[in-house]
Amino acid sequence: MHPFPPDACRALGGVAKAGDLRAAGCTSRGLRASVASGELLRPRLGTYALPGTSDLAMRALGVGGLLACVSAARSLGLWTLDDGEGSNPHVWIAPTRNTSREVLDGCRIHRDTLIDPPRGPSVGIVDVLRQLLRCHGIETFFTALESALRQGILGRRASERLRRAIPREHRWLVDFARSDADSGLESLLRLRLHAIGMTLAPQVEIPGVGRVDFVVGDCLILETDGATHEGAGRHRDLVRDAVAMSLGFITLRFDYAMIVHEWELVELAVVGALARNRHRSDLGLRIEAEAARKRRS
Ligand SMILES: [Zn+2]
Repeated sequence: MHPFPPDACRALGGVAKAGDLRAAGCTSRGLRASVASGELLRPRLGTYALPGTSDLAMRALGVGGLLACVSAARSLGLWTLDDGEGSNPHVWIAPTRNTSREVLDGCRIHRDTLIDPPRGPSVGIVDVLRQLLRCHGIETFFTALESALRQGILGRRASERLRRAIPREHRWLVDFARSDADSGLESLLRLRLHAIGMTLAPQVEIPGVGRVDFVVGDCLILETDGATHEGAGRHRDLVRDAVAMSLGFITLRFDYAMIVHEWELVELAVVGALARNRHRSDLGLRIEAEAARKRRS
């Protein structure tokens, strides 16, 4: 009994070579029939994929490569800073493969040696992150890294492989990354304020207020406002800020546009608050915040 080709393809990770499918017991006739019925896709001769494979992934497979770097990160749902690159995929091609320039037109090509086995139509997560660092820099790498940790896509061993695979001067980013960041904005804010020597206590539970993104010093709350902070969320935020103020905390809120496009203003606000000692309080609130943080860690 020959296996149903789409099942065999799924068992092989969702993308498979004809040779591997035949080794799994599929026949050429069965593969042809599955393609004809739309139950399998054939992005190029001898390569098969499951329906639902994205257009970008089909394009990468179609040129004999794999989805890589920022394109693979987005397909995994990782936070990546929107750099307005449009729809051209970042594609990994084996360094030894001879592929004409015309075929690759419009693709951003990565020709490096992979560390991990591919994951369906994409390079593995360690390679995605390694490529992001090289292609898009520290900030995009760091936000995607914290996102991968948060989603449980990057485990401890993979983290160690990643750490070894990136240049020595960037390895601290892997040590600095946390798995409890709620959004890429939080990751970016913490990284940028760290760069100017500021230490933030993340995800602090404040009695009466709830969990806030960051506390600086004793009583300065920093919140990053994503899309959930509109409508009813806006009212909830205002109530939280008022309660926090009644307890002796001051809240500064920054949204995407500010953090990404008006960073200077964000930095001025935080540095200005610190210069006037707005993060210091003798109300004993620091003890409460610290206790809450210790309970969490
Ligand atoms: Zn790239």
